[in-house]
Amino acid sequence: MEFDQINKTAVTDPAKRPNLEDYASIRANFDWWRDAFEKMDWLAGGGLNNAYEAVDRHVAHGHGDKLAMIWLGKNGEEERYTYAEFKHESDRFGAVMQNLGIGLGDRVFIFMDRLPELYIAAMGILKAGGVIAPLFSAFGPDPVRDRMLDAGAKYLVTSPDLRAKISEMLPDIKTLKNVIIVNKDGRSDDPPVEGDLDYYELMSAADPDSFTMAETTQYDFAIMHYTSGSTGKPKGVLHRHQAVIQQWITGHWALDFKFDDVYFCTADPGWVTGTSYGMMAPWTNGVTQIIYEGGFSASGWYKVIQDYDVTVWYTAPTAVRLLMRAGGDVVDQYDMSSLRFIGSVGEPLNPEAVVWGNRHFNMPIHDNWWQTETGAIMCANYPSMAVRPGSMGRPFPGITMGVLDDQFNEMAPGSAGSLAVRPGWPSMMYTYWQQDEMYNSRFKKGWYITGDQASIDEDGYFWFQGRADDVINTAGHLVGPFEVESALIEHEAVAEAGVIGKPDPIAMEVVKAFVTLNPGHEAGPQLRRELMRFARDRLSAGVAPREIDFIDIMPKTRSGKIMRRLLKARELGLPEGDTSTLEDD
Ligand code: AMP
Repeated sequence: MEFDQINKTAVTDPAKRPNLEDYASIRANFDWWRDAFEKMDWLAGGGLNNAYEAVDRHVAHGHGDKLAMIWLGKNGEEERYTYAEFKHESDRFGAVMQNLGIGLGDRVFIFMDRLPELYIAAMGILKAGGVIAPLFSAFGPDPVRDRMLDAGAKYLVTSPDLRAKISEMLPDIKTLKNVIIVNKDGRSDDPPVEGDLDYYELMSAADPDSFTMAETTQYDFAIMHYTSGSTGKPKGVLHRHQAVIQQWITGHWALDFKFDDVYFCTADPGWVTGTSYGMMAPWTNGVTQIIYEGGFSASGWYKVIQDYDVTVWYTAPTAVRLLMRAGGDVVDQYDMSSLRFIGSVGEPLNPEAVVWGNRHFNMPIHDNWWQTETGAIMCANYPSMAVRPGSMGRPFPGITMGVLDDQFNEMAPGSAGSLAVRPGWPSMMYTYWQQDEMYNSRFKKGWYITGDQASIDEDGYFWFQGRADDVINTAGHLVGPFEVESALIEHEAVAEAGVIGKPDPIAMEVVKAFVTLNPGHEAGPQLRRELMRFARDRLSAGVAPREIDFIDIMPKTRSGKIMRRLLKARELGLPEGDTSTLEDD
């Protein structure tokens, strides 16, 4: 490790000073109502609509000419939309939905690639009072069917190729009223399916000027995301319009959005990061967002940052590890000097990745923590604070987090336990769709139990240990897979590591690691021995892996999380459980 703490250099340009300059005093004096709720415009009559706050508000405030979105298509296309155009087009789609008879709270599934129409449709549906449920476009028919059935989907917006992929199962969705097809630029020559509606025809027949926004309140449902548990079917997490308040203020303080920022979020809208921080947070803060249709590509991403002068970049550890694997020399071929802030979420950010980022981007990557259920960032490394590599930072102003023991009592700093949050934050999920019992089971002794394990240090920084399900008990020591994985990826041969507890008659569990290798390194007994020695030197002998297997592909979710439970099931020959979110590359 090059350093234990990455200190900030003083920012002299006042325009670049962090929005949250003095964490301690802002936290001490923070008031949700005064500092956040009152900063929204609200609707006449006291309602709240997240799409209004994200789009229309900027037009009402005289910023209609500002760019809201620059779309970069996978075939080299580019489209630009100002906030005024975005309002106009989303009003038009709102009118389309009203013409189709949408009612307050109707679930509209969006199953498509990152096209401008996805965002226009999403904002239009929200303004018309619908609930958006975006899905990963890489899903096959079964996960789409399960989710649409569970939610009682009423409308589906999709593209011809994706429609073809799920056609056979669509008749199963008895609640489905209309399928709207977006055949962007005539990409598909297939004849339309009878009964489907054409997005562009509907749009030209609709009148945006006659559209009237639904009278949504802060308590109305807005967004639904399915998260998969380790067992059972995925659960539909339901968020309300109110969530936008925290998405806005976390964008302002944790991602440090400034009005003239150009922002690049690499998350897919099928994952909560792709809506909370790929729609709501950036647009409520009035920034220009890059929508990149293509998938992961180190040089493709760097080129976007260079050519579009991206200032704020929000990505995930899995992507950072892939960038590391592609090599620092690739970054160095591009001009990254426009960047002012890099954030990461979704998994623990290995200290090695923070150090690598600092070396190649000239700034640390800032880890922050939250989950689908929390709807917005809860804990973060802020631009004004020193980064402690491996830590997920400190709780957001207005948020109380704690580490609890088995009896759900708060523990002193230094001990690892269950990570919990005091309920009542604005972007808290409303429920799991039709699973109230499961929702209620997440609350104990006045805390929301996150399902993660963590510890706090003396200065109030939180350190992630692992999902509660993934923590390993070896000879009485509780070992978080993250610390073992982080140690392994410090070795130059290792690209990614996934660590599990393997049942053992004596130690209860032993630590077993699965690793993928960087190009130019060969799997074999010699490298295995070397990695074991390397891990033992960094960790204690009890914590270092007892077994290491080389694998070609690390099983991950589509949001980039290592699926340790799958590694474990495969190791033990057990059923794999729900694998609908497994990435298949
Ligand atoms: P999801 O709801 O799919 O976004 O997953 C949320 C889970 O991802 C959390 O409960 C954590 O287990 C993990 N996670 C998200 N962000 C972080 C982070 N910064 N550090 C460690 N784990 C994280």
